[in-house]
Amino acid sequence: MHEDVSLNLSPREAAGPGGIHRALVRKTGRPFAADRFVVVRRSVDARKRPVRVNLSIRIYGDGETLMPERPVFAYRDVRSAAPVVVVGAGPAGLFAALRLVELGLKPVVVDRGKPVTARRRDVAALNRRGVLDSESNYAFGEGGAGTFSDGKLYTRSKKRGDHRRVLHRFHQHGADGHILTDAHPHIGSNRLPEIVLAMRATIEAHGGEIHFQQKVVGLSVAGGRATGVIVADGHHIEGRAVVLATGHSARDVYRMLMDKAIDLEAKPFAMGVRVEHPQKLIDRIQYHGQPRGEYLPAAAYRLAHQVDGRGVYSFCMCPGGFIVPASTQDDALVVNGMSFSKRNSPYANAGIVVEIRLADIHRFASSGPLAGLNYQRAMEQTASVNGGGGVIAPAQRLADFVNNRSSNGLPACSYPPGVVASPLHRWLPDPIRKGLQAAFKAFDRKMKGFLTNDAVVVGVESRTSSPVRIPRDPQTLQHVSVLGLFPCGEGAGYAGGIVSCAVDGERAAEAVVQYLA
Ligand SMILES: Cc1cc2nc3c(=O)[nH]c(=O)nc-3n(C[C@H](O)[C@H](O)[C@H](O)COP(=O)(O)OP(=O)(O)OC[C@H]3O[C@@H](n4cnc5c(N)ncnc54)[C@H](O)[C@@H]3O)c2cc1C
Repeated sequence: MHEDVSLNLSPREAAGPGGIHRALVRKTGRPFAADRFVVVRRSVDARKRPVRVNLSIRIYGDGETLMPERPVFAYRDVRSAAPVVVVGAGPAGLFAALRLVELGLKPVVVDRGKPVTARRRDVAALNRRGVLDSESNYAFGEGGAGTFSDGKLYTRSKKRGDHRRVLHRFHQHGADGHILTDAHPHIGSNRLPEIVLAMRATIEAHGGEIHFQQKVVGLSVAGGRATGVIVADGHHIEGRAVVLATGHSARDVYRMLMDKAIDLEAKPFAMGVRVEHPQKLIDRIQYHGQPRGEYLPAAAYRLAHQVDGRGVYSFCMCPGGFIVPASTQDDALVVNGMSFSKRNSPYANAGIVVEIRLADIHRFASSGPLAGLNYQRAMEQTASVNGGGGVIAPAQRLADFVNNRSSNGLPACSYPPGVVASPLHRWLPDPIRKGLQAAFKAFDRKMKGFLTNDAVVVGVESRTSSPVRIPRDPQTLQHVSVLGLFPCGEGAGYAGGIVSCAVDGERAAEAVVQYLA
């Protein structure tokens, strides 16, 4: 019979199996072999000094199988199975395709961008020389926005079972085992491309197809049912159903659906800036002045504040990371954040975003399903103009921004294409500026030293979530008016972040099976 044990250890003791085994023997008072235990969960407890590590451990009896509860993925041969078109090879599309293969249907995945190896070169050119390829960038191409993302795998999703399956599938395709145990699992931008490649290999080895540089420009509908898609060179790709997983940067897809009179809705979202501090400063605040040393991870934070009833919160915090250009068009600037698996850059950045409600959108922009999208685009264009065009980003020292002062110079910043001093307090829309300024003051009360001119705000973080929803039936997951069309992932407005989009992709695949049955 296995036994569950909790430990609270110093970061050094918790760092390796030897220290954990010694602590277990001490705690249980009985000797057992060092290969008979598994760490089930690991989290850093930084609430007080000294910082400790909490571990949940399962000790297995002799002869018991370790971790029998791990899911087994049985992929079938789908070479001659019914084809299902999956538009988009991001987390939603890839996980939909993998699940379709398990369920015995043939995914035909089409993506506008390039395979990950070629895409990596385009992303490098964007970082180093500011050259933006509108079809191959941080948002578009194999693996979607998930490939050169930070690879944090946290989710607030209630569907814990599905969420565990997603982590196991990542692990099966090459992610380190610690993602299965860490309270805040993270892969890193350097490791994600090889994982995405392994997923493609699984799909293709079982008879699924993936086609790159195939932009979908039309949807074929016959008798009220989706029957396939039309790609930019005019040819038609047939499928018994269509999974639409194009992410929220594919604005042309929303326009294409509008032109076809397919229902869309505006939805609330959030926009703001990226803020970047020296990582040492965040470590000092979060670890109560204790040096991080070699056993603690780069410190993170999560902050939220209400300003006049409107939520302002940190989003996608990247300890030891970089701010990156996530634009998809030359005249619209978008920033985001990522880190490598070691999280060892000297910078800590996070999106700090302000809730934008439907009433705001209609007050400040236009009406109609694309009103939020137009508002988002207008802010990105303003950022581009204030950055001087291209992907050079407008930036301001944090305390200057909060005190409505222009910055004369800027501190060092991780953003590869470079930043230029700009008075963000003058050009950010009022509700966003006011919300951010008040929230930064409140954040400084929670984390003393947060509000400093050693930190910099960089504009704009505009794509935290989709401003549009492609409405679907909650039971069948099909579009409300087109049968056999399964909008899913971030672009559909029902999920956000890698794990929840992957879960949504899997659910869409299961719904396709129900539909075809
Ligand atoms: C820099 C960065 C860092 C991030 N960090 C994290 C993180 O740490 N953790 C986290 O959970 N989330 C993170 N995210 C967000 C996360 O990547 C997204 O939530 C997720 O990728 C959305 O998945 P998706 O499959 O719905 O869409 P996407 O990943 O956007 O994929 C959509 C795919 O559809 C394709 N496509 C679009 N239009 C067409 C068309 N017309 N025809 C054919 N193909 C098309 C695109 O090329 C793309 O491959 C980050 C995002 C970025 C940009």
